[in-house]
Amino acid sequence: MKTCYLIGYPIMHSMSAVMHNTAFKALGLDYRFKFAEVEERDLEDFIESYLRSSETRGASVTIPYKIQIMNYLDELDVIAKNCGSVNTVVNDGGLLKGYNTDGVGALRSLRESYGSLEGVKVLIIGAGGASRAICYHLSLHAKELIIANRTINTAESLAKSLTGNPKCKSKISVKPLNDLGKSISNVDILINTTPIGMYPHVDSTPLEAESLKRDLLVFDIVYNPPKTRLLRDAESVGARTLSGVDMLVYQGSEAFRLWTGLEAPEKLMKLEVNRALGGSQ
Ligand code: NAP
Repeated sequence: MKTCYLIGYPIMHSMSAVMHNTAFKALGLDYRFKFAEVEERDLEDFIESYLRSSETRGASVTIPYKIQIMNYLDELDVIAKNCGSVNTVVNDGGLLKGYNTDGVGALRSLRESYGSLEGVKVLIIGAGGASRAICYHLSLHAKELIIANRTINTAESLAKSLTGNPKCKSKISVKPLNDLGKSISNVDILINTTPIGMYPHVDSTPLEAESLKRDLLVFDIVYNPPKTRLLRDAESVGARTLSGVDMLVYQGSEAFRLWTGLEAPEKLMKLEVNRALGGSQ
């Protein structure tokens, strides 16, 4: 049997085990997916003792280790390198290679909901691992990308790495999260990539309802709960909304393909995630 882990802290809110174990079982694979809630001081030990072991095929990586884990890997795929963050690791005979499937998953979900992303204006809240991946992919299409973060230096360093890419099509600017000014009035899409509003803090929101407007698509990559307070507020002003559930399944489907070489049973994965989250679909 091969094991894949979810490495993060904390991770008990995660739907990744439900999603991947359903997929492994459906395809009759001798794989299992396990939680590895690892504290920062134990990260390196975990990687050397478990992730590099011959019984392990790889890992999904989540908050807060998407950037830090790169220090311990042997190789990075070109997209992970460009994103500056890793959400998937493949163990090939003890060699650990990092990938990032978050951006592909997020853009696929966004396109299904919004349509073409060429020339869009986007305000993205957060500048962590998931934001890095989404910003990298968006910067190949969007006209404008405003990055708002609690720690301004982190947003500035993300902006610098994006503008350093010759393929970047976007005008990039940064804003402190607590002083967005009129940034939102001019954008088409708002994306939350912070954990604000995630279970159990379901009444928190990164932006008050007064800041939202009707002609926005509001995408919250938090998927537990599927309808965060930000999305409830967005609905109340008549804006369109998109939860993080489809992104979860699409990024997971890419990871599944990297570990197994097989196409993931996406419909079944989505069904099981929605069922576990208490939804219908
Ligand atoms: P990360 O690398 O740790 O980044 C977290 C980001 O959120 C940083 O920009 C951080 O700002 C900001 N932040 C954290 N707590 C905050 C607070 N209380 N107030 C203001 N800003 C705060 O995490 P990540 O891996 O990118 O994950 C972020 C979230 O996205 C998690 O909830 C995760 O579950 C979700 N996610 C969902 C999917 C999906 O498939 N739907 C995929 C990836 C991630 P500072 O720089 O100031 O610390």
